[in-house]
Amino acid sequence: MNKLDEQRQKEIQQAEELLFTGPQALGFAKGLFQGHFVSDWVMPYPRVDEGERPQLEQTLTELRKFLNEDLDPAEIDRQADIPRSVIDGLGRIGVLGMTAPKEYGGHGFSQMANCKILEEIGRRCASTSVFVNAHHSIGIRALLLFGTPEQQQKWLPKLVSGEQLGAFALTEREAGSDAANVQMQARLSEDGSHFILNGEKRYITNAAIAQELTVMARTPIAGTDKTAVTAFLVTPDMPGFEMLEARMAKTGIKGTATGRFALRDVKVPKENVLGPIGKGLKVALTVLDFGRTTFGACCTGAAKTCLELAVAHANTRRQFNKTLGEFELVKKKIARIAADAYAMEAMTTVTASFIDRGLEDYMLETAMLKVFTTERLWECINDVFQIYGGSAYFTDLPLERMLRDARINQIGEGANEVLTSFIALVGMRGPGMEFKEIYDTMMKPSRDGMSKAWAAGKSRLNATIRVPDVPVQSEQLRAQARQLGRLIRHFNFAVNRALVTYREPILDMQLIQERIANAAMDLFASTCVLSRIDGEIQSAGRNGNTASSDHSAANLFLRQSSRRIRGYLAGLTDNDDKAVIAAAKSCLTSGSSRVA
Ligand SMILES: Cc1cc2nc3c(=O)[nH]c(=O)nc-3n(C[C@H](O)[C@H](O)[C@H](O)COP(=O)(O)OP(=O)(O)OC[C@H]3O[C@@H](n4cnc5c(N)ncnc54)[C@H](O)[C@@H]3O)c2cc1C
Repeated sequence: MNKLDEQRQKEIQQAEELLFTGPQALGFAKGLFQGHFVSDWVMPYPRVDEGERPQLEQTLTELRKFLNEDLDPAEIDRQADIPRSVIDGLGRIGVLGMTAPKEYGGHGFSQMANCKILEEIGRRCASTSVFVNAHHSIGIRALLLFGTPEQQQKWLPKLVSGEQLGAFALTEREAGSDAANVQMQARLSEDGSHFILNGEKRYITNAAIAQELTVMARTPIAGTDKTAVTAFLVTPDMPGFEMLEARMAKTGIKGTATGRFALRDVKVPKENVLGPIGKGLKVALTVLDFGRTTFGACCTGAAKTCLELAVAHANTRRQFNKTLGEFELVKKKIARIAADAYAMEAMTTVTASFIDRGLEDYMLETAMLKVFTTERLWECINDVFQIYGGSAYFTDLPLERMLRDARINQIGEGANEVLTSFIALVGMRGPGMEFKEIYDTMMKPSRDGMSKAWAAGKSRLNATIRVPDVPVQSEQLRAQARQLGRLIRHFNFAVNRALVTYREPILDMQLIQERIANAAMDLFASTCVLSRIDGEIQSAGRNGNTASSDHSAANLFLRQSSRRIRGYLAGLTDNDDKAVIAAAKSCLTSGSSRVA
């Protein structure tokens, strides 16, 4: 086995261990790749539970008042610090322990309600929303999900109130996108009472202000010479904890404290192991699922701000004796921001509801949400920046800050390229396995193999000819629902054809993977939008409000998304991939960026 094959085997083994631990019901995204529309995951459009709604409304009111009066995003950016008074205020309102159980002082909110809170913060200040995410969405999440009752009792009350802060430390120099390559070591002491941790972490949000850090380190696997990642609760007062850089100077989200620290022979009691030994990556990825939904919420909030700013300027700034809003090229930008903001909210709400309903295996959907919302937000900010012209460039307006702040989103919590490839590969695994069944049987016929291959062949064929039903309730949405069904069939056909055409090499063909993942993301986004419009029409009907509300932005999204999907799928066969690879190879091998 050559080195590349060995690496591939290692990656497959890790992915299998993390993602396919047992039989699971077919989720929505995996269903798309099989040509199915798993409607009960996405329809009807989820709503925050009636019982929880009054408390959510009250918290939102309190939060808005606090943010309007006491949060100064420009000052946070200038000072590169979030004042303690802001952190204390968020703690008082309950933001720092929103989803924690009430017995530990939390609000016990659902993830959907939590997303509404994060959207509100993301609307105003990205530093603050990233700080809250690092503390709550990922910092204390491992404790909430995997902590023993004793650990929760000991740690949660102070973290939930904000008296103490949390951080999540996975990234190292050698473990960035390749998160499984954690090098920090943890060996058990001779008396078995504690682990001894050694190594360095970098780029860790809240590292220098946190009193509890969830730290990933490698522990030996008993009876082998191998190691696996385990999660530990580490506190900065442990001897050997050394803060190397408390606040790394950076481009945006300057208010957050992004740090670098070393652990040198730090003794961590074995009671501080979080989750099963050797299952730290699973802990990390589960935690990131939650983080990615609130990421979506924060991006939604910021996109809504983009829309408000764009409309305000387009209605007031005059050039050529017209307001900017009278020009079609400005209208186009505003319409697109409105369409995207609607879709981002719908997608966030639907994905958060998967967590609340206890559905299994929504890792694909959270990855889709993260990539989709972060890419869309970047476009939204770019558009509103353009509408403001030269004024956007100056620091008295929030746009240059928003632009700097938004750039981290495409990199943090999984770089978008890595997640895009992941979406395509995990999604294609289902149909790919069916094809493998057919192929293996053709090569080596057996009675058992024949029946499995027959079933697989039938399933593939069915999915290719059948247009899945998209069950909307509102009569006026039937045509759009049918169109979505047809797009899913088209997608499924294209995925099958790509699998048959490229076979195993597709595992390395990221340009093909990207188109497949992009199409899948737009299908998911369109589904959420359709579900949301349907929900809003039905709810208006129930309230006796039959005058149809304005869904022009949502309808635009469906049209543009459908056009994008067709473009991605057409690109699977009509593209410049060979030329792209050749040009890149030429640059990479010549070691310079020659311009022809
Ligand atoms: C402000 C900030 C805050 C952060 N907070 C935290 C935190 O709280 N906790 C934590 O653990 N980490 C945190 N991180 C780390 C963050 O998650 C990593 O930066 C991210 O995972 C990318 O890793 P990397 O920076 O090492 O980039 P690399 O892994 O070196 O990747 C660089 C680029 O290469 C490309 N690339 C990499 N792999 C592939 C691939 N397989 N296919 C195609 N392209 C690829 C992508 O374009 C990627 O952006 C933070 C980072 C920043 C900048």
